[in-house]
Amino acid sequence: MNPWSIYFIYGGAAGMVVAVAVVLWLYKSSRNMMLRTLMWLLYVLASMIVMFGAAAFYLINQSTSNLFTAILIANTSMIIWLLLLGSNWGRGRGINPKLSGALIIVMVLMAELLMGITYTLYIEGPKDLLLKSLDSPWFVIPMTLEAAISYVLTERGGRDLFALIAPPWILNMLFNPVMLPGAWFRYSLLASSIIMVMIIILMLDYMHRHKVLQANDMHVMLGASAVMAVMMIIQLAASLGALPWAMYGAALLVDMGWYLAVYVNHKPQLRSIAWLTKPIHVAVFLSLIFIAEAAMGGVISMEMGWLNPGGLSESLSQGLVGIIQFISALTLGPGFMIMMGIEMGWLVAARALEVHNAENRARLILMMVSYALYGVYASSFLPPSLARYPYLEWSMGLGTAGPLSPYLLMAVLGTYAINGAASFLFGARQVCSLTCTAAYMWQGTFYDDLKMIKPTRITPRKGVIRRIHDALMMIMMPSLIVLALLSYLNQIGYVKLALGLDPLVLLYLVSFGIAWYLFFALSPILGTYNCVTYGWCHWGAFNRLMGRIGFFKLVAKDPSICIKCRTRDCARACPTGNSTMPGSFITSGHYKSLTCIGVGDCVEACPYDNIEIHDVRHSLRLNAFRELLASINGRSR
Ligand code: SF4
Ligand code: SF4
Repeated sequence: MNPWSIYFIYGGAAGMVVAVAVVLWLYKSSRNMMLRTLMWLLYVLASMIVMFGAAAFYLINQSTSNLFTAILIANTSMIIWLLLLGSNWGRGRGINPKLSGALIIVMVLMAELLMGITYTLYIEGPKDLLLKSLDSPWFVIPMTLEAAISYVLTERGGRDLFALIAPPWILNMLFNPVMLPGAWFRYSLLASSIIMVMIIILMLDYMHRHKVLQANDMHVMLGASAVMAVMMIIQLAASLGALPWAMYGAALLVDMGWYLAVYVNHKPQLRSIAWLTKPIHVAVFLSLIFIAEAAMGGVISMEMGWLNPGGLSESLSQGLVGIIQFISALTLGPGFMIMMGIEMGWLVAARALEVHNAENRARLILMMVSYALYGVYASSFLPPSLARYPYLEWSMGLGTAGPLSPYLLMAVLGTYAINGAASFLFGARQVCSLTCTAAYMWQGTFYDDLKMIKPTRITPRKGVIRRIHDALMMIMMPSLIVLALLSYLNQIGYVKLALGLDPLVLLYLVSFGIAWYLFFALSPILGTYNCVTYGWCHWGAFNRLMGRIGFFKLVAKDPSICIKCRTRDCARACPTGNSTMPGSFITSGHYKSLTCIGVGDCVEACPYDNIEIHDVRHSLRLNAFRELLASINGRSR
């Protein structure tokens, strides 16, 4: 490249970045802009559009006549615009902010795209021009710099949601995997995923800290999650070979368009919304970030070689069972579990800092360790030498059923027996509040807030949800037994099932790979811990049953305090709707229930620190103490 070319390419790009950033800044910071001022800003953008447009026109066919035509078009249009600006046209008139904002956004995007097209034509030629231009560093880097400079000029010190997520959002624009050849592809995919997870954490944490949002915070949160979902679906389709990777540039255009639309129109608002009063909005938001995360998890798993793209695409053509396999491969795959681990772990760690009760804090910390061990390590990375030992992980024992193969039933029975015994001794909390992935997801700061949207306490113990709960409990447990039996008969060849999948594995995938996340995304409408309150989880139902007949119970240290208590905060705090605790404390001094999972929110909430959680350890200690007392009494007689 000769020095003149370098000067024109880099100088042109730098000039455009500064000019666009200044136009955006001036437009954003001016109040009551007049039409004439807007015309000057549009003139700057229009000059760039015609300049790059004319250059592209010439570069497509580099003939002398094209060169003259390009120069003529560029100069004529700029002269016409200048004449317009020199006349009295539009003097003293105001602008329509929506229309002018849209015009600015469209023109900025056009200028950027035309610059990408011009430079791609100059450097690489006209083949696959549009897609290559969108993925070109000459489109991506100037676009990122313009957004960054205009943000720094205007949003410094901003305290709202947009100001908070804009820096990582802008940074993320840089990580187009197809922009550069070689190792950039993998690193940019991983970097982009980390940044997206960071943005989601920032949004959830912001919502936890601000129960009342500005009205436009709500738009930002819904818009950002929708854009992320679109971008991640495009990435997933590209990983599966259904779309060319080059399409990612188009997704970035949507990303930039959304950013500009918010940047240009974003103003502090007086109107505020308590997001806890908007269950549908929050459910849509959660569903969108879940879609983005599931797709992102799939992309990471495929990129790291944990999932086979060929097998995954093939499953899509195998009817309903194939679709179930496809979705659960994404939601149970290591990429997704690691990502969720980081995101949820952040919120759980924040909650661990907020709780007062030492046992609750210890449980939250243990829960993070359990997730790493059970949710991530055991389910995806257990070395074959350890996988020889069954029942090491809870996924109904399926993951470690190798040595018992082909009789999955044995693995399931063993896992149920071991965990049932543990629940008998320590309560269902050893699953539902500790080792189950669900526990980890329900107990972070933001998800804990959700229980205020649909407090389970408003559900009467004999109400509809209770009836659904009881009916599902009646259906789920027998269905598990029937499917386990079918699995066994199928494996010994007594019946021939044409499912293409063992029925127990199918049950596991439907329950924990699909239904769980569906219920999770709908938690603003159905309430948190809906796996417990609606009773659809056979695994939890079984363990709760064992906990109910076992040693586990809540004990009031002094029932007389409950008699005088006016707050009844314990009942209000329970995420699974145990509202009759106070009465039970008064009459029997303790509380036992099929829906009590020892989450400990009541312990945390009681203003008199009057609740203790008891399990086999307390019973043993108590009995040992009684025996000791009896032996002392015996000796003294
Ligand atoms: S009910 Fe099932 S999904 Fe919910 S926490 Fe318990 S074991 Fe996990
Ligand atoms: S346990 Fe605490 S909050 Fe619940 S009724 Fe007794 S004193 Fe009140």
